[in-house]
Amino acid sequence: MQGINKVPLLDLSRSHRAIAAETSEAIARVVDSQQFIMGPDVHLFEEESARYLEVPHAVACASGSDALLLALQALGVGPGDEVVTTPFSFFATAACIARLGATPVFADVREDSFNISMEAAAAAFTPRTKAFIPVHLFGQLSRVDEIDATLKQRGIALVEDCAQSFGAHRMAGGHIVRSGGWGSLGCFSFFPTKNLGAFGDAGMVTAHDGAQAEHLKRLRLHGAAAMYQHDEIGVNSRMDTMQAAVLRVRLRRIEEWIEQRREAARIYGMMIAERGLLDRVKPPVEDDGCRHTYHQYVIRAQRRDELLSYLTEHGVSARVYYPIPLHLQPCFEYVGMKRGSLPVAERLCGEVLALPIFPGLTEGEQDYVVRTIDDFYRG
Ligand SMILES: *Cc1c(COP(=O)(O)O)cnc(C)c1O
Repeated sequence: MQGINKVPLLDLSRSHRAIAAETSEAIARVVDSQQFIMGPDVHLFEEESARYLEVPHAVACASGSDALLLALQALGVGPGDEVVTTPFSFFATAACIARLGATPVFADVREDSFNISMEAAAAAFTPRTKAFIPVHLFGQLSRVDEIDATLKQRGIALVEDCAQSFGAHRMAGGHIVRSGGWGSLGCFSFFPTKNLGAFGDAGMVTAHDGAQAEHLKRLRLHGAAAMYQHDEIGVNSRMDTMQAAVLRVRLRRIEEWIEQRREAARIYGMMIAERGLLDRVKPPVEDDGCRHTYHQYVIRAQRRDELLSYLTEHGVSARVYYPIPLHLQPCFEYVGMKRGSLPVAERLCGEVLALPIFPGLTEGEQDYVVRTIDDFYRG
């Protein structure tokens, strides 16, 4: 504990170590089978994750970005349509809308959970709104229950961006709803840094409707209804068998890893409070009834940029997710939302800072992180 002077933002090798042999065996089996695309492991991974997520259907694909694109394509989103989403997310959330020729409409976020405000979203709906994409940011579900009735009434499709929230859930109306469990469609990413990460790109769309799931399966194979018969144009977005084999091993550990992340978050909260830092640093807020999975542990900090430099100088790797809100990205200038139009998201971009969190992070390392923050504010 004494000698710590460096803490990585993420160290995947620590969780891998315990399952290294099992993972190598799974990969070796794929190599032996020589079935590299859509082999048996892909279907098994779809079944096993559908069971874990408590959704009827899961369709594996090549990335989280593709999952969003396939979902919107399955809903027939195209030119003339509007899709309401959050300005405070990874770029892919809005890019998929624009890629299909539809218009992204950004609605402001909540200051406490960083998730899209359901009042702001509802106010952004117009007769052209075809779909709504809330992002369950940093591992915590947004309050979809508050807008569910409005969506149904207006015939607006719900597409959940679950890229950061595999395994997250929320109590609503007396029962547990899991990430991907609200929407007609839930979009997951297994990018290596996500809570459930592959050894490369991989993604998945969950569906509640069987016909929609079949449609998604066609769309990921160039829209083919049967071999060499194309009634519509899809994309090439299959999951590699190797990724599925790796993910199946890791899925068996996900609960343990989520619990480790939650425990690390609890310890950070305690350490920040004990050092009297609460007037400088706001720890993340767990929304009512939410099981936050802490894909990221994101604080709001005074003099954020100076703190980030100080942490970096002292060996603590921290990062800003996200420095620029999507409505102010040059590529979305045409949407016409100026600086000042979404004040909460814009302010958060200047205050947020993600601290190191991952399974295997030690209490000694956390102590070093919080001590370094304390040293900075003591100046
Ligand atoms: C990671 C991520 C995506 C994209 O997933 P990829 O697998 O990297 O394509 C989409 N939305 C959010 C919120 C993400 O964090």
